[in-house]
Formats: sequence, C-alpha cells, structure tokens
Amino acid sequence: MSDDCIFCKIVNSSIPAKKIYEDEDVIAFNDINPSARVHFLIVPKLHVESLASCEAQHQALLGKMLLLAPKLAKEQGLTGFKTLINTGKDGGQEVFHIHVHVLGGGDKPHKI
Ligand code: 5GP
Ligand code: ZN
Repeated sequence: MSDDCIFCKIVNSSIPAKKIYEDEDVIAFNDINPSARVHFLIVPKLHVESLASCEAQHQALLGKMLLLAPKLAKEQGLTGFKTLINTGKDGGQEVFHIHVHVLGGGDKPHKI
C-alpha cells in the first residue's frame, strides 16, 4: 500500500470504482475515462510501480493478470480486445501502480 496511490485507494475501497472482478491478488474495474465502449483495468492488490519495477517474484502475478484479460473481456461481451501496459512517464503511464488496460467494443477495432 502506498499512501498517495489512487489505485491502492481503490484496492482498499477508500475511493469508489466500478469493480468487475476481485480475488485475493487482483481487482479489475472500469476506467473512469474510457477510450472504448468497454475499457477496464486489471490491477494487482500489491503496490508495484510499473512493469519496469517487476522482478522474478512478480512472475506469477503478471501471468495471472494477463490470463484474466480474455476471461473478463468475454464476460464483458467482447469478442476481441486490446491490451496495453503503459510503462514509465515516457511510456504514457499516469498512475504509477502497474495495470493492464483492456479495451474493446464499438464499430471499429480500437487503434492505439
Ligand atoms: P495509465 O496512463 O497510467 O496507463 O492509465 C491510467 C488510467 O487510469 C487512465 O486511463 C485513467 O483514465 C484511469 N484512472 C485514473 N484515475 C482513476 C480513478 O480514480 N478511477 C478509475 N476508475 N480510473 C482512473
Ligand atoms: Zn498503489
């Protein structure tokens, strides 16, 4: 838990989010500013800044997050989707608690 981290606050329910999934390791919730008809974030409960901060000890957690993407995308009615992990300020990351974006739906496939 990091005191000033918005996603840690969502993890501990001190700020609200539209959660679509939760287990002991991970939550997923709708992005507050969606870029597609369906746009949710898969977020570990553990505070890890970014993909660049991950080490071997995070391997199973990263795998779990990725394996959740198709499962949750299907539950959200998507027949195809994009995944995105912004890493570092220069990689477009704005929230420094690692997360996988899952985007899909709408008329045209979402282009990054
Ligand atoms: P990043 O640029 O770090 O990869 O993406 C951060 C994402 O988090 C953005 O798409 C942004 O809309 C979303 N976001 C930021 N603050 C909140 C929040 O308080 N609640 C929710 N649900 N999403 C947020
Ligand atoms: Zn955090």
